[in-house]
Amino acid sequence: MPIATYIDTHCHLDGEEFAEDRDEVVQRAREAGCTQIFLPAIDVKSCHTVLDVCAHYPGYCYPMLGLHPEEVKTDWREQLDTIHQLLQFPLPLERAEGEALPIAIGEIGLDYYWSREFEQEQLEAFEEQVKWAVELQLPLMIHCRKAQNELVAILKKYAKELPGGVFHCFTGNEQEARQLLEFDNFVLGIGGVLTFKKSHLPEVLPACVPLERIVLETDAPYMAPVPMRGKRNESAYISHVITRLAEAYGVTEEVICHQTTSNVERIFKII
Ligand SMILES: [Zn+2]
Repeated sequence: MPIATYIDTHCHLDGEEFAEDRDEVVQRAREAGCTQIFLPAIDVKSCHTVLDVCAHYPGYCYPMLGLHPEEVKTDWREQLDTIHQLLQFPLPLERAEGEALPIAIGEIGLDYYWSREFEQEQLEAFEEQVKWAVELQLPLMIHCRKAQNELVAILKKYAKELPGGVFHCFTGNEQEARQLLEFDNFVLGIGGVLTFKKSHLPEVLPACVPLERIVLETDAPYMAPVPMRGKRNESAYISHVITRLAEAYGVTEEVICHQTTSNVERIFKII
């Protein structure tokens, strides 16, 4: 076991990309020092696969349930009804007791990068799920692309009652970082993008984001860090992100691991 340990707060380990060798991927993560992996769902179907994978790795994998903005289509209301049910009663009776309950609502948000076809529906679906976070007092795992102003406007309405959350895969500028950090108990999810050659994150983050406001993530199988860029990502590869973050902040890798882990404990309250 490495000296420093960390938590991967966003990994699509239920994806079919991992169907062949999921046990080995988890084993490599454990050996690399990853002590927990959080799995986001994107729709009803993946809520079930996320819960199944988490049941398979109790105490290691934890589920987050929600409807991803790119999955908001004509049937979004039905999907939301089912996911709301699952958030409250996630475990079928035949499952053993003591398995992981959902630790967050996600991933949810707004995404106008590819299409604005369901713009209005995305706004409604996001707001509905933000209300669940207030109702169930669960943190949010938020995905946002090309829609930060719209997203912030909705969150502001509930800011005082929200327990917190993660703005996952943050890639913005200083102004955008500052705007997001105005929400108490919210942190930025940082992953492979930090290591990309053209990334401005190594300058932006130390300039305006205290280490207390950062958590680590892979977004695996996507966003593999340099030198794995373009390959299938996995939780063990976060070491490359840790190294780059330590350089950017001028601290040791142990400090990065320790601080980000305690940030996760504070936001998710699971440990
Ligand atoms: Zn994701």
